[in-house]
Order: sequence, then C-alpha cells, then structure tokens
Amino acid sequence: MKSQKIERREFLKYGLSIPLFATYLSACKDEFIVPNDTKVMVIGAGISGLAAAKMLSEAGFKVNVIEASDKIGGRTRTNHSLGIDFDEGASWIHGIKKNPITDLAEKAGMLSFETVDESIVSYDLGGKKRSVDLYDSTETRFYEILGTMMKKGNPKKSFGEVFQSNYPEYFKDRLWQFFLSAYATFDTGDLFKLSSLLYDEGEVFGGVEKIATNGYDKIPEYLAKNLDINLNQKVTEIDYSGEKIKVKHNGQESQADFVIVTVPLGVLKNKVISFSPQLPEKKLNAIEKVGVNCVNKFLLTWEKAFWDDVQYITYTPDVPDRFNYFVNVKKYHPDTNALMTFAYADEARATEKQSDAEVISLIMAHLKDIYGSSIPQPKNMLRTKWGSNPNAYGAYSFTAIETEMSHFDDLAASVGQKLFFAGEHTEKDYFSTTHGAYLSGIREAGKILEIFKK
Ligand SMILES: Cc1cc2nc3c(=O)[nH]c(=O)nc-3n(C[C@H](O)[C@H](O)[C@H](O)COP(=O)(O)OP(=O)(O)OC[C@H]3O[C@@H](n4cnc5c(N)ncnc54)[C@H](O)[C@@H]3O)c2cc1C
Repeated sequence: MKSQKIERREFLKYGLSIPLFATYLSACKDEFIVPNDTKVMVIGAGISGLAAAKMLSEAGFKVNVIEASDKIGGRTRTNHSLGIDFDEGASWIHGIKKNPITDLAEKAGMLSFETVDESIVSYDLGGKKRSVDLYDSTETRFYEILGTMMKKGNPKKSFGEVFQSNYPEYFKDRLWQFFLSAYATFDTGDLFKLSSLLYDEGEVFGGVEKIATNGYDKIPEYLAKNLDINLNQKVTEIDYSGEKIKVKHNGQESQADFVIVTVPLGVLKNKVISFSPQLPEKKLNAIEKVGVNCVNKFLLTWEKAFWDDVQYITYTPDVPDRFNYFVNVKKYHPDTNALMTFAYADEARATEKQSDAEVISLIMAHLKDIYGSSIPQPKNMLRTKWGSNPNAYGAYSFTAIETEMSHFDDLAASVGQKLFFAGEHTEKDYFSTTHGAYLSGIREAGKILEIFKK
C-alpha cells in the first residue's frame, strides 16, 4: 500500500507525467491495424484488468472481462451499507503529483482529502500522551535507520532479525514497535518475513497524500463504462496449448486469441487456476518467492465523537500489529462520527477468526485505555477479511526474504505472445498500489497493441 509515512525515492520513470491511455491511443492511432475479429479476454475486473480492457476496447478489439466476484473493483471496492463510503481496499492516492490515479480520480469524480501527517497524537499505555518532541525525534531516527539498514542486510535474514540484532533496545521499546508496525508491517508484511535487503524497494510519486472521500470504487466504475463484463464467473482452467486459448469459468468454456490474467498473487499462489501447459518455471518460482501481506480494515461509528480532533490517533499497545492507528473520519466527513483502524500481517489473519463482538472488544480496550472506560460502545462496525477472501488471499505483494526484484519481471512476463499477466504484483516500481495496478494494465494492453503495429 506504500504507507504515507515511508519516504521513498521520488523516481519519475515516465518523465513529466504518465499518460492516460486515451492520450496514448490518440497519439498512436495510425500506427496499429486494429483487427475487428480478434478476441481478448481479461480475467479480473480490478483496476489493472479494467484499465487493460478499456484501452484495448477503445483500440477496437472485442474484449470480454470475466470476474469471479459479484461486483467489479477487486481491491478497490467500497462498502456503502452504512451510508458512509468505507473503502475496503485502497483508501489513499499515494503522492498525488504525476500519479496517474490523480487524473483518473478527476475523470471518475472521485473526491479526495489531504490527510496531514502532522495532525497526530500518540498515546502510551494508560492513556499517557507522548510529547511531540519524543514522537518526532523517534520518527526521524526511524527513517535514518530505514535509509541505511539495507547495508547490514543479508539474503537469508529478515528485516526483523537484522533490526533486532542491530538495535535490540529499540526493538523492545513500545514506540519503536509502533513505528515498525504502522510504518513497516502495514506496508510490507511481517517483519520476520520481509527482506532485509529489499524492504525499501519501489518508487514513490511526490506531493501530498489524499484519501478518497466518496469511494475509491468511482475509479473502477469509470473504467468499466461500456465494457462487456461477466460477473460471478470464477476462472479455474486456462488451456493455452492450441491456437485459441480456452478458459473454463463456472463449468463453461470460452475461447479467446489473447488472455490477460490479472488475478491477485494470492490467487496464483493458491493455484485457483490450473494452466495447461504448466506456466514456465521462472514464473512459478516468482509466484512462490514474492510475498503477500495481509491487512484488514475496520470502520466503527458512534452517535458522538469522544476522541481528539486530529487526523490520526496512535496508540502503542503490547501487541503491536492491531488497532494501533486510528484514522479520524470526522476530519473529512464532519457529520460522521467514525474511526477507521487496521490490523496487519498475522494479527490481521487472526482477526478473521474472531467474531464482531470480540473484535469490537479488543478495539474498545485500546480506546478505553486512552479515553476512559465510560466511552460509549460503537453503533456499527464494518470489517474486511482479505486473508481468507477466495478472490484475493491477501492484501498486496511485498518483498519477502527470498524475493529478488527480477521476480516482479518474471510475474509480468507474457507466455507465447498470447497469455499476458497484469496486476499490482507485476509492477516492479509500484507494486502494492492502485497506480501500480493501473500501470500494469496499460503495459499489458500496450504489449498486445504492439503485436498489431503496422
Ligand atoms: C486493505 C488494503 C488497503 C490498501 N490501501 C491502498 C491505498 O491506500 N492506496 C493504494 O494505492 N493501494 C492500496 N491497496 C492496494 C491496491 O488496492 C491494489 O494494489 C490494487 O487495487 C490491485 O488491483 P489489481 O487489479 O492488481 O487486483 P484486484 O483489484 O484484486 O483485481 C483482481 C480481480 O480478479 C478477480 N479474481 C480473482 N480470482 C479470480 C478468478 N479465479 N476468476 C475470475 N476473477 C478472479 C478478483 O475478484 C478481482 O476483482 C490496498 C489494498 C488493500 C487490500
């Protein structure tokens, strides 16, 4: 997800800005002979699949999108059931400057609000407020360590092991545990599975962070306009041995000349789809070696707000990876009394086995420690279960101990010029984000267009 907190190198690979595909298409319109009988099937209606489908459909291909779930959007879906737009997956545009999602959001009517990092309060156990100086100086030192720790990294050792052995005192400290959890585990996975060499890989866009305020689903809805999409169709087999590719979904068979597979890495790892012939060894190895993080989100609502009037309320409990960071929704929806909180890695997976009452009680224990035991119970809670979601099996990819950056290229590699792969996990520079997913979709559509270049 690329936490808004982790400062990465600003690398503008695409020069001044990344073109939206409409611009790209109009610039190259005369360069392609667009065949009107060539069929492309896109598997998955997340941002990557929809971006690819829209680009190819506008270029004149017959495009069909096959989606397992009952709605489009994948990991950019929004739950509107409480009358609040609760984004179950992506919430933020990470770095609005030259980020293709900024333009897309404008076109799609997705509104957003700048979340100011400095609008934050930090509480220790017992509701003890930390001084801003202590919080800021620890944060600065944390970034210094992140900036250099890869030099002490080791291909066989995790980030957690290297950090713990080099900074044992910090590792025991609750504020340091908070930074490790909310700034690293949230973004990149369990510290003891995260690579000690590649934890800081990936590039970022500049500019402020903005959170969607009327639903991230505006973007998939915009991309999906005029596309032929079949919902509730789970793909289980892809046979690319013949001239046409045969795709089995819900016991039915469809054929296409080109197929773009955009299902999440977790779905590939769980072998939900069997490929015939088997995928190349390099791709299978990359599927195994790149990690998939789990993050779950929880939205709680109350009649009245009882919390600080800041954007972020942070807490440093003994179990660090759950409910240690609250986003104050009221800052961007003044009439809504709601907090959004998170669980990461194994703690996120553990919440999926807990009932709503258990989860509420754990969250309330943190809030009561901060604000006192007389605070009211929440009216409602919405929650996600990304780890066990059979169309995702996790939240987003990360660089695990055995990951090499070339594995992202292996995940993106096409097979036999007819089977293509997109999705956030295939975008080496921007994996784990919506912009990475979008860029991967236009990249793969571009590869198909290249085949028909005059
Ligand atoms: C909790 C969470 C928070 C996040 N926060 C942010 C954020 O703030 N900012 C940000 O930039 N990114 C964030 N991300 C990451 C971002 O949401 C994803 O990187 C991006 O949406 C992935 O898009 P995609 O097209 O690659 O995959 P998906 O959106 O997952 O699309 C894949 C589609 O394939 C479908 N599918 C799966 N299996 C099958 C099958 N067998 N047959 C047919 N269809 C199938 C799925 O249902 C899905 O619709 C977050 C993700 C999560 C989960």
